[in-house]
Amino acid sequence: MELLTIGAFAKASRLSPKALRLYDELGLLTPARVDPETGYRRYAPEQLERARLVAWLRRLGMPLARIRQARVEADTAARRDLAAFLVDHLTGKDPTMSRTTAPLALRYAALSDTGRVRASNQDTAYADSRLLAVADGYGSGGALAGAAAVDALRSLESDTVPAGDLLGALEDALGRAEQAVHGVASPGDDGADAGTTLTAMLWTGSQLALVHIGDSRVHLLRDGELFQITHDHTVVQSLIDEGRLTPEEAASHPQRSLLLRALGRGADSTPDLRLHDARAGDRYLLCSDGLSTVVPAGDIHRVLADTPEPEAAVRELVDLANASGGPDNVSCVVADVVAKA
Ligand code: MN
Repeated sequence: MELLTIGAFAKASRLSPKALRLYDELGLLTPARVDPETGYRRYAPEQLERARLVAWLRRLGMPLARIRQARVEADTAARRDLAAFLVDHLTGKDPTMSRTTAPLALRYAALSDTGRVRASNQDTAYADSRLLAVADGYGSGGALAGAAAVDALRSLESDTVPAGDLLGALEDALGRAEQAVHGVASPGDDGADAGTTLTAMLWTGSQLALVHIGDSRVHLLRDGELFQITHDHTVVQSLIDEGRLTPEEAASHPQRSLLLRALGRGADSTPDLRLHDARAGDRYLLCSDGLSTVVPAGDIHRVLADTPEPEAAVRELVDLANASGGPDNVSCVVADVVAKA
């Protein structure tokens, strides 16, 4: 096995040689070989994945001592989620480390509808064999902003994403998405106030990488139970988190759609990023707030559980939103993890 010099390893892992030496001293990342004469550190290519994960924990602001102890004390839900995943990964507890051998694929459908009240549809719903995405645009160029953001993620599909650097590749794609949205929202333009939510899942063949900014949502139906696996980046959600508002009060709050994070000029675009181990039989729903605001979770659960075909499920969900008045654009993506045909 060819070992890498510290310079080559630093470049590939996006860590500086200085950081690598520090991580070695701390026992976080021990070189595969240290030359007894010169002290030169050499790394094995298999160590790249771990190096990238350490880099991610650092970018999340996790103190080195905590990485070493594999303990988490994050101050936001986003950091907590990603950090918990990464720590599990680093300590080998993550189930995604043991890959299943049965090949899996996605069966999917996407549907977006203007609703009954709005003049135009600023939502984007997209699904293909590798990417699932919902974007809810706002402002005068909102529709363009949402479409541009999803388009930027589609560039990932043709790329061969290195196995250990999925999160890095997603971060790069998000950078492109942000640039694309800014292009729509150029100052002085009609679209200056344009922005979008972006909630997407990228399929790797054994995992789903989730990227989430804003108040669109992902639900997972697993073993008959429905879980919301995203956290709304809204003012009301943060008030709920702080115990200052009940979920019932939030539902009728006049500013319930006020976003804390979004892709757009002047917005905090920090994404929640996570990897999900794919399991045959799982069903994912990505939806814009046009669904979750008016259709109760119990109804969403029932439709997902009782409607085998994704096409029929998205149709049924959009119909339910419209039957409840359809006050907003509504978008749904339903994807089943199935054994590869
Ligand atoms: Mn909406």
